[in-house]
Amino acid sequence: MPILRYVPRVALGDLTFPLHIFCFYIPTHSIYYYSMHQNSGDPLKAKGKILDLPGLWTVCVMEGGAVEWKGRGVGTQPPGLIVYCNSGFQALMLTALLVGLAVLAGLPLGALPEMLLPLAFAATFTTFIFSLFLYLKALVAPASALAPGGNSGNPIYDFFLGRELNPRVWSFDFKYFCELRPGLIGWVLINLAMLMQEAELRGSPSLAMWLVNGFQLLYVGDALWHEEAVLTTMDITHDGFGFMLAFGDLAWVPFTYSLQAQFLLHHPQPLGLPVASVICLINAVGYYIFRGANSQKNTFRKNPSDPRVADLETIPTATGRQLLVSGWWGMVRHPNYLGDLIMALAWSLPCGVSHLLPYFYLLYFTALLVHREARDEQQCLQKYGLAWHEYCRRVPYRILPYIY
Ligand code: NDP
Repeated sequence: MPILRYVPRVALGDLTFPLHIFCFYIPTHSIYYYSMHQNSGDPLKAKGKILDLPGLWTVCVMEGGAVEWKGRGVGTQPPGLIVYCNSGFQALMLTALLVGLAVLAGLPLGALPEMLLPLAFAATFTTFIFSLFLYLKALVAPASALAPGGNSGNPIYDFFLGRELNPRVWSFDFKYFCELRPGLIGWVLINLAMLMQEAELRGSPSLAMWLVNGFQLLYVGDALWHEEAVLTTMDITHDGFGFMLAFGDLAWVPFTYSLQAQFLLHHPQPLGLPVASVICLINAVGYYIFRGANSQKNTFRKNPSDPRVADLETIPTATGRQLLVSGWWGMVRHPNYLGDLIMALAWSLPCGVSHLLPYFYLLYFTALLVHREARDEQQCLQKYGLAWHEYCRRVPYRILPYIY
């Protein structure tokens, strides 16, 4: 059946599927491969041993996933039915330990930058095969397990967006597992490899490289520490698990989010202490808003009577859930996105202003969050109706106070 027949019925937020592909997916992918090409040396020159790294990383992450860690509680989705293993931070620590030992034993981590292009292609190919498996698995899944948006009947569309909401084999949840661990841990590993390569080339890592590594490690450590918070995100509760999410999680995040470190390896930037201090301050402000807003909402959703949020003003909704209308969520309707974007700026600034490439993440992320915010608004309007209108009246700005 022709794909276009399905277009009017499968609107993706305010963008239709083909519009999404042509305006967003293809340009960003072209930049992705271009930047890989720009930043890679001749793969044939890479030392063979570095090929051990993806295997090592997979083993580390899988082992981390197997650690049953109940110290900080487990999330459930839907409530009371599934117990998730909340051990992302342990997976990061285990990876750090194993990679540290492997480097001591001679693993040439600094040779990884030369292998980025083939590794990126391998990750994309693996994701494609994995998504095929997810699609075939979804064909035999019960209707109750399918995602609302990924069940159009058009195989290409459903393969791309994902048919099944939370595909699992026994208690292993593919989406929950892939959402953070492999991509985020891969990202900081690539960053570390850039830092080590720079040390090999120039005697020591530059201040700019330390800042980028430090900021992004903080972001990744924070996300894995609060891993259970992912259970209330749109990715888990609304979107199917198909090529779009799988590619984003397993290939896009590690290889493009590390662009700043890749750039610094090839374009060293002098950075004085005063400028570095200002950039650290910007990152700290972004992190403060991001963490404050996310924690406030998570605490409130877990227990509205928690003393940390009990005094906040709320709007009741017909569903019985309430909406926060003071604190961070009274400032703008997505304060967590604002904090995230401020941090994205701080990650690009150490790379100077001579080239656009390090700002790719900031530009792409702004587009992603503006689109995501529009989708979330639409879903909240459906969920909360009049109460959502009232929230929008009381908190008129979406992400940036007085501007947007
Ligand atoms: P949010 O954490 O912003 O969650 C949106 C949901 O929060 C809504 O659907 C609604 O769900 C609830 N909500 C909205 N307003 C209120 C309110 N006033 N009071 C109480 N609850 C409210 O969504 P995301 O999943 O998009 O983002 C999570 C984090 O992940 C963000 O910090 C974002 O920046 C980050 N992120 C990072 C990405 C990256 O690539 N680095 C990509 C995407 C996100 P309900 O009412 O059902 O609880």
